[in-house]
Amino acid sequence: MCGIAGVFGHPEAAKLTYLALHALQHRGQESAGIVSSDGTRLYGHRAMGHVAEAFSEERLTKLPGDSALGHVRYSTAGDSSLRNCGPFWVDHALGPIAVAHNGNLTNAETLRRTLEEEGAIFQSTTDSEAFLHLIARSREVTTVERIREALKRVEGAYSLIFLTDRFLVAARDPYGFRPLVLGRLRDAWVVASETCAFDLIEATFEREVAPGEIVVIDANGVRSLQSQPAREARCVFEHIYFSRPDSVVFGKNVYTVRNQLGRELAREQPAKADVVVPVPDSGVPAAIGYAAELGLPFEMGLIRSHYVGRTFIEPSQSIRHFGVKLKLNAARSVIEGKRIVVVDDSIVRGTTSRKIVKMIRQAGATEVHLRISAPPTTGPCFYGIDTPTKRELIASSHSVDEIRDYLGVDTLGYLSLDGVLRAAGAADGRGFCHACFSGDYPVGVRAQGGG
Ligand code: AMP
Repeated sequence: MCGIAGVFGHPEAAKLTYLALHALQHRGQESAGIVSSDGTRLYGHRAMGHVAEAFSEERLTKLPGDSALGHVRYSTAGDSSLRNCGPFWVDHALGPIAVAHNGNLTNAETLRRTLEEEGAIFQSTTDSEAFLHLIARSREVTTVERIREALKRVEGAYSLIFLTDRFLVAARDPYGFRPLVLGRLRDAWVVASETCAFDLIEATFEREVAPGEIVVIDANGVRSLQSQPAREARCVFEHIYFSRPDSVVFGKNVYTVRNQLGRELAREQPAKADVVVPVPDSGVPAAIGYAAELGLPFEMGLIRSHYVGRTFIEPSQSIRHFGVKLKLNAARSVIEGKRIVVVDDSIVRGTTSRKIVKMIRQAGATEVHLRISAPPTTGPCFYGIDTPTKRELIASSHSVDEIRDYLGVDTLGYLSLDGVLRAAGAADGRGFCHACFSGDYPVGVRAQGGG
């Protein structure tokens, strides 16, 4: 998964983009990059690591100009290395252009093969680079028309920002899988994956970039082109897990939706218990809703350390559940002698949940009831969420009772897909992609292997 942001028409464009990426850090922690434009050429910097590590004050001064775009990456196509970091930028016949992409293309392999057979030389193993090759090879006479043509040749999920020496373009695939929003900061225009980025830089939210829309921002203002008719299939997992709870995504506040998911879950899967405990951080809003609906106390019975890096030194004498223990610890004073309902947003492989359950039992819980604010995850995502292959998803091959036994809980309850869609504001069941739960893939699964 990735986060993207762009600024047009502000003297501190790179710095604002840096801050916007900071707010989008949850969408990708592997690498960060910014490209700026001073009206004549592009300047870029990319590095591995978090935004704060990738950019220093001095680095940002080397990104001049009043427009910029940026990218934070969590690899879902292509390995995690510097050559695969976004954004990508090149010079082509009509001038310089950079791209930041969130989503996965479902025809990436065939597209790449075709382009390579035609002589294209790829510098990365990502699908995002294909956009630039398509634009460079197009015969259209303007860059905007070349972008429009390129978007017609790709399939799958893309929320995109392009930057040239003269303008910025924001575009979304016809399904609108990934979010993308447009905002204003006085005379400047801003684009970001989520509205939490606007809050940080004090920009105001204008609207979503619509599915299938191309928004062109230049010195004359904003104009909108419809590249393809919308076939709306917004990713419901953005609401369940991925987006930040303070963002408005697909027109709804994420915290409110998660709280509502918890309320729906309580109605469908009530538990006789003494206290509701979330798996922090992602399970918190749903657990609050669950507890409120049943009139049960809500307590932070699992404490999360926010200082866990990606690599750590393991002790030679093995400590049980070391990885999870580093991140979470059970608060004995909350748990001991009580019947606990644990609320989390999803079970993927089941390995983390199993360790958490053991930890809660060791802290003295008399019963453990696990409630999940989503249906069983039975299929991988081909549109940009990092889920393992079908084989590794515990719910693809095990029944709810089998998963309950594997996790070692007294009861296990998932929210139904109808419940999820009601909470997300789609009671008619339309407008969302829920393929990871339903197997109903809106586009292009034939050539995909997973991830
Ligand atoms: P697992 O042990 O594989 O069942 O992990 C379940 C946990 O992973 C839950 O607490 C989720 O919040 C979290 N999770 C769900 N989807 C993802 C994802 N795509 N990337 C990282 N973590 C995830």
